[in-house]
Amino acid sequence: MATIRFLGAAQTVTGSMHLVSANGRRVLLDCGLFQGLKELRERNWREPPFDPTSLDAVVISHAHIDHTGSLPLLVRRGYRGPIYCTPATIELLGVLLPDSAHLQEEEAERANRLGYSKHKPALPLYTAEDAQRTLGLLQPAGYGKPFPVVGDLTVTYRRAGHILGAATVDLLLGANRRIVFSGDLGRYDRPILPDPEPVAEADVLLLESTYGDRTHPVGTADALAKVVNDTAKHGGTLLVPAFVVDRTQELLWMLQRLEDQKRIPVLPVYVDSPSATAVTKIYGRHAEDHDADMRSEIRDGQDPLRPERLQFCSTVEQSKRLNDINGPVIIVSASGMATGGRILHHLQRRLPDARTTVLFVGFQAAGTRGRLLQDGAKTLKMFGAEVPVRARVEILHGLSAHADQPETLRWLGGFLRPPRQTYLVHGEPGAADALAAAIHARFGWSVRAARDGEQVEV
Ligand SMILES: [Zn+2]
Repeated sequence: MATIRFLGAAQTVTGSMHLVSANGRRVLLDCGLFQGLKELRERNWREPPFDPTSLDAVVISHAHIDHTGSLPLLVRRGYRGPIYCTPATIELLGVLLPDSAHLQEEEAERANRLGYSKHKPALPLYTAEDAQRTLGLLQPAGYGKPFPVVGDLTVTYRRAGHILGAATVDLLLGANRRIVFSGDLGRYDRPILPDPEPVAEADVLLLESTYGDRTHPVGTADALAKVVNDTAKHGGTLLVPAFVVDRTQELLWMLQRLEDQKRIPVLPVYVDSPSATAVTKIYGRHAEDHDADMRSEIRDGQDPLRPERLQFCSTVEQSKRLNDINGPVIIVSASGMATGGRILHHLQRRLPDARTTVLFVGFQAAGTRGRLLQDGAKTLKMFGAEVPVRARVEILHGLSAHADQPETLRWLGGFLRPPRQTYLVHGEPGAADALAAAIHARFGWSVRAARDGEQVEV
């Protein structure tokens, strides 16, 4: 008897966590943090419905915090077993987990200073030390080769094409039962990363459905070229709040191509984020995760993620020096939704200037400063003051790292026989239902959204 229990990312898009019990063993697929609205974030504090010390292994699909951000908590609660992931994921977690711990510690410190927590003193969800201990448990596993996880359970990773190091997880339970977990599925014909690799068979498939109700727009490079050219014409600043993993690197790749094609002028480009700087370097190192173009450019001694006048700002002094630079200039800084980080200082300084353009390149969640700006806010509260917004705000659609509905169906077309049952995870109810209907119509498979907390048989 084998079972899967959905412990997160069921009818929502964060907190990815699924417990597999089979042949007397217990394996956790992903161990993500709930993010976004308060009621979701509060779930991070709940005791898990299993004893962390009873787990035999953890298998991670990719480095994003909504898939890994609870690992330090698992370790804090006593887990000391192996945590399997790809080599690139290990490197990315070396940046992201300490960052996440730092944010938790900062939030606790702020709650204590301002006295808004009902807990006295407010404690962080986990600490930098928990994150460091977690990094010590990571075990590398490459693509395409089955590796033993525990007992007669083996896993094969295949490229998911979502972010560097992202894998689909093919979990074989003994001789003849197979669970396939898509993790987050990437896109076809994107720069830097290869297409998602097909998977031939599964008895039970766990499939992400983030954009299960959408088709991504095309023409992203044209839209970016227009915004850059407008910025150059007005002599202003193009300020891009960007996520440190993938969005920053894809943007750099696009800027370099547009410069090469002489579709935009060569402007100074600053990446002002220590994490984005570290992640961009990691992106250049993992040939096993690159597509053919990226590989051949690196082989020819090029740096494909380097617009001609790119500079990284690591120190606070370098960051502050940007205050004195007048346009035209492009500044890329984190965080992607302007919830924290150095982007706030740049927004504070440049939002009142009508020559500034703020360019959003990713989803802006409700309640964030990014969303307020996108919705046309005339002022923005930062560092205790109301900052007037005279800057233009633009949105670059189509830079998503997730497959849309047609791309998901294309990946499912790689299965040689239908899974006995497909469960949709990692999607809001509307997106999951739309994808379920599309899968049923196209392939006739048995498919439905996973319910939060439910246990199913394999
Ligand atoms: Zn992801």
